[in-house]
Amino acid sequence: MARFTLPRDIYYGRGTLDVLETIKGKRAIVVVGGGSMKRFGFLDKVTERLQKAGMEVRLFENVEPDPSVETVMRGAEAMREFQPDWIVAMGGGSPIDAAKAMWAFYEYPETTFEDLITPFNFPELRKKARFLAIPSTSGTATEVTAFSVITDYAKGIKYPLADFNITPDIAIVDPELAETMPQKLTAHTGMDALTHAIEAYVSTLNSPFTDPLAIKAIQMVFEYLPASFDGDKNAREQMHYAQCLAGMAFSNALLGIVHSMAHKTGAAFSTGHIPHGCANAIYLPYVIQYNAKNPEAEARYATIARYAGLEGKTDAELTQALCEKINAFNVKLGIPKTLREFGIDEKEFKEKIATIAELAVGDACTGSNPRPITPAEMERLFTCIYYGEKVDF
Ligand code: FE
Repeated sequence: MARFTLPRDIYYGRGTLDVLETIKGKRAIVVVGGGSMKRFGFLDKVTERLQKAGMEVRLFENVEPDPSVETVMRGAEAMREFQPDWIVAMGGGSPIDAAKAMWAFYEYPETTFEDLITPFNFPELRKKARFLAIPSTSGTATEVTAFSVITDYAKGIKYPLADFNITPDIAIVDPELAETMPQKLTAHTGMDALTHAIEAYVSTLNSPFTDPLAIKAIQMVFEYLPASFDGDKNAREQMHYAQCLAGMAFSNALLGIVHSMAHKTGAAFSTGHIPHGCANAIYLPYVIQYNAKNPEAEARYATIARYAGLEGKTDAELTQALCEKINAFNVKLGIPKTLREFGIDEKEFKEKIATIAELAVGDACTGSNPRPITPAEMERLFTCIYYGEKVDF
């Protein structure tokens, strides 16, 4: 049995925060990150509108980037004390992801993290509260997805939580919030959105329900990301919607090994964190070359290329054109072409890559990749990406 799940309502457009005045409830907890939402005045706007709706409001602030198990537990504790019937999460992916996990521990204090990390194994939520998400970045689309990523720093592991129970009830996709994104973040989150849409389109779980969302998202990213990067307001707005469409696609069709690889390399090297969207952008063209050895996947990449207005006589030529288009975007957006160029030390890369490759194969996103991969092949793929070599296996 296949399932397609989205939020009940998606409000979009400038000034859409006003809809908060119509939400019915008694108590709302607002979960927010490090301060940009406060600085730009959006936190006050949200609080005022919820109060106008007659709700008592409490804040849970300072959710860190890559939120920890400890932050989730503290948030759940605050919720158990305040007993909200609405959880309002706002900001980048991190506070929204954290709030999703807090929600589970609020409703089920007796559950454990170990119970939740099994995919699609959440207890039934909405016994105590409903969930409203307001994204301020244009990439993760966590406002419409069934996913949350929580980091266990003690164990050094990222847990991708997955369950349709944590798909929000309401998403408010207001482009005014995304206008505050710095340029680099615009580049990285935009390429994350493109990766979501392309991986969802070629996923083994692609469907007639997810395909149109993925294709439209890809077309919009190709059309608007460069101008959005340059600060054009209309383009920023269109990118905010494009990433949301991509999210609706991948929440239901899942992803592939670009994400497996990004998850397991993000914090793996001593030379510094590789931002999620940046890692995806670097890996994507190489993974397309690898996956295109599967003729069905190649046909799908060719379809993407046609919808993007690219030219080629065969599926192989069209797939090649798609890779070149992505490479050109990376150049425009200042994203390096190889891991060496990113600054990863060669000796450290060689020491760690076998282990990283094995972890990447075991990542939750590998299962829906259109071509299977062994740890040895994954290591070869990473090596191509390190040195910028053609993937021909
Ligand atoms: Fe992503």
